[in-house]
Amino acid sequence: MAKKLIVQKFGGSSVANVERIQNVAKRVIGYKKEGHDLVVVVSAMADTTDELLELANQINPEPEEREMDMLLSTGEQISVALLAMAIHKLGFEAISFTGAQVGIITDANYTKARIIKINAERIREQIKRGRIVIVAGFQGVTMDHNITTLGRGGSDLTAVALATALQANECEIYTDVEGIYSTDPRIEPRAKKLKAITFDEMLEMASLGAQVMQARSIEVAKKFNVPLHVRSSISTNPGTMIVKEVNRMEEALITGVTLNKNEAKITVCDVPDKPGVAADLFQNLSDGGVNVDMIVQNVSHTKKTDISFTVGKAQCAKAVKLTQKIASDIGAGDVVLDDDISRVGIVGIGMKSHPGVAAKMFGTLADNKINIEMISTSDISISCIIKKKFGETAVKMLHKEFGLG
Ligand code: ADP
Ligand code: ASP
Ligand code: MG
Repeated sequence: MAKKLIVQKFGGSSVANVERIQNVAKRVIGYKKEGHDLVVVVSAMADTTDELLELANQINPEPEEREMDMLLSTGEQISVALLAMAIHKLGFEAISFTGAQVGIITDANYTKARIIKINAERIREQIKRGRIVIVAGFQGVTMDHNITTLGRGGSDLTAVALATALQANECEIYTDVEGIYSTDPRIEPRAKKLKAITFDEMLEMASLGAQVMQARSIEVAKKFNVPLHVRSSISTNPGTMIVKEVNRMEEALITGVTLNKNEAKITVCDVPDKPGVAADLFQNLSDGGVNVDMIVQNVSHTKKTDISFTVGKAQCAKAVKLTQKIASDIGAGDVVLDDDISRVGIVGIGMKSHPGVAAKMFGTLADNKINIEMISTSDISISCIIKKKFGETAVKMLHKEFGLG
């Protein structure tokens, strides 16, 4: 067998405890024994990142983002060291590195930094020495040596970026499910594992809340055409390939159903209905670093209108604060926060060529007496904001109606 350079990423649940770390060590060594070179990216153990966030919240609910990254990056540093030790114990050579140590250079956009470049020399040198190289996921460093993180789920991005920089032959993403399913198998046990999915569909699914892959990592994989193999860290079954094109004999209407419970809706009431107001509002939010998702503006009958938009929960407090300030500047009324929502979405390239998909989705929700609060579409997806409590039911019903089970 030809020698390959393989980048493997193991997520938090795959290194959740001593046993699992030992399991990862064995698995990695298995590939080493076959003669391959390995770069292994690991996430923080289990819920470590969430626990660190909670710890910070207890000390200061609005911490400086630089300090947040200093804190969050420690989770991955623990797992790389432990994995290296586990590999040593089994008699193989390995060395662990932080993002900074292997030259993952980012901008200073703390908590969601963008990778500017990777200086992979140090990794190459260690590979040449025959070592298994273990890299902390989710983190980088600015030009002036401040630690940054790459956004939640960012270890996926570390893996893809390293695979690109090293021109790896393969990039494997190991997780706690056997691949990409037609919907979250924890919500719908009848969900089907997909053999393959396109970058475009996966990007859309990830953006709509399928946390199995970080959306940004798929953008990069698409840009550099890095095929990804998403598979289980426990079983050896083949998983799902994420690739540029998939030849499906019969184009399915829909490939996947998604659910996102991590958004909140903000409504600005009685906004004066005149040019420039929306621009002001969203410019200020953007300047404040808030990512706005769906936007709905109602038709006005009284020279005043309501504007609603959604933001990620993590940015909720900041968004409300900024919005209140702008609302008062522009002479609008109350700012109302609603975090009792979820977004259910359907994704599929098939919808480009089939009419009636939206009608079928809305019909399915209506039949189940689920009210739609907002709607958003792209050419391969449709998503709706509904009450949080209906999220799982909506997923199951849509999964069934579109024949995905
Ligand atoms: P890791 O710790 O390996 O990064 P994540 O928790 O980030 O793993 O992602 C894996 C989880 O993503 C699964 O446990 C599953 O519940 C969830 N998930 C959501 N949508 C899907 C989907 N369409 N296919 C597979 N898993 C999904
Ligand atoms: N530990 C980080 C997170 O929980 C990064 C990752 O798991 O990919 O978001
Ligand atoms: Mg993940």
